[in-house]
Amino acid sequence: MRRYSAFAVAREAFRNHSGWDRAWGNPVPKDRYDAIIIGAGGHGLASAYYLGKNFGIKNVAILEKGWLGGGNTGRNTTIIRSNYLQDPSAAIYEKSRSLYEDLSQELNYNVMFSPRGVIMLAQTEHEVRGYKRTAQANALQGVKTEWIGPERVKELCPIMEIRGPRYPVLGGLWQARGGTARHDAVAWGYARACADMGMHVIQKCEVTGIRAEGGKVTGVSTTKGDIGCDKLGIVVAGHSGHLAGMAGFRLPFESVALQALVSEPIKPCMDIVVMANTVHGYLSQSDKGEMVIGGGTDGFNNYTQRGSFHHIEETVRALTETFPMLSRLKMLRQWGGIVDVTGDRSPILSKTPLDGCFINCGWGTGGFKAIPGSGWGFAELMAKGESPLTAEFGLERFREGRFIDESVAAGVAH
Ligand SMILES: Cc1cc2nc3c(=O)[nH]c(=O)nc-3n(C[C@H](O)[C@H](O)[C@H](O)COP(=O)(O)OP(=O)(O)OC[C@H]3O[C@@H](n4cnc5c(N)ncnc54)[C@H](O)[C@@H]3O)c2cc1C
Repeated sequence: MRRYSAFAVAREAFRNHSGWDRAWGNPVPKDRYDAIIIGAGGHGLASAYYLGKNFGIKNVAILEKGWLGGGNTGRNTTIIRSNYLQDPSAAIYEKSRSLYEDLSQELNYNVMFSPRGVIMLAQTEHEVRGYKRTAQANALQGVKTEWIGPERVKELCPIMEIRGPRYPVLGGLWQARGGTARHDAVAWGYARACADMGMHVIQKCEVTGIRAEGGKVTGVSTTKGDIGCDKLGIVVAGHSGHLAGMAGFRLPFESVALQALVSEPIKPCMDIVVMANTVHGYLSQSDKGEMVIGGGTDGFNNYTQRGSFHHIEETVRALTETFPMLSRLKMLRQWGGIVDVTGDRSPILSKTPLDGCFINCGWGTGGFKAIPGSGWGFAELMAKGESPLTAEFGLERFREGRFIDESVAAGVAH
């Protein structure tokens, strides 16, 4: 595939952009692949990409029931950070964050990674203790974060009201190399790179059944016919329970709607990302000028890609306490995605009871930041049967009580 470059853009400008290749095709499924990944979200596409790049497994299909990136990958608020508490989490999230640093060069696709810095605000004494503890854990893990006081918070984000009224800002956990990236571009960049390796990204192809013989996976049934495979990766976020049911096992998580909204565009007023767990909302400003606001999860399990109205009201009311200037803005759009939340707020990257079938899910409200690292580790797990990055995230941890508790790091809706 022709590389994107300033020179190529200039050349194409002179020939009416007729020389570009399609970024990915519209292939007819083959009868059989070495590996099939179900779900063309960021995690599925990244897993396929690293299967090809790191392990030479390129006879791969990625099957998507809708359009690529149309699930949570294209619906999130794009926050990237790695300031988690437990060692296995810090390892996979920091691997991911560091891969984001040069992902645009790696994929030859501008994913617009913007390491503008992320603060997690402490607005109660409990949070102060929690984040100071995380800062110390991060220092031991080699993840660069620091505890900062309220004056520094105000300096970094002048539009914030740090004095209250209900919840004054007592400080925050600051990660200077955290930030955002363009979510669609992450999916498109991986999809293009997969197609370039000869992989098939097949959209509008819903998996309706998983076929097995003698306890081993043999393929899938889809709306485009039966397709055989040696290895199968299920990477479908909130739909994982359904797919696991087809493969004959159950998963310990809940599917709930998580929602976000954006305001009308305004002039640049905030050049960092702020998460406020106590008042429950998180905020950044997009390149277009919209204030991007993340809300909470619905308090009941559901599969709507909307979320309930009272949550928007709650989120906006809470955020305007800390950001009074928001009260003057009109909100433009709102949407939701179905997230897969585990009891310990950590993901599942695991073999399953069905031989040859692997699962990557449970990223819940915070998996966008993890896409490159998760793909890296999951590809290794699928190719070699084990990976140091995924070792602690197996399904057996729920049976054995080895939880990886990240309820502080993921306390706000991601
Ligand atoms: C509103 C919102 C805000 C968020 N904010 C952040 C954030 O700021 N930072 C962060 O790190 N994370 C955030 N997240 C979480 C993040 O978006 C997800 O964890 C991540 O995108 C999950 O990616 P995925 O590839 O696993 O799933 P998805 O992107 O959902 O992809 C799964 C795909 O599987 C497909 N599929 C399902 N069933 C089938 C089937 N039977 N056959 C074929 N295909 C199927 C779906 O159509 C979908 O495209 C947010 C999520 C939401 C909803």
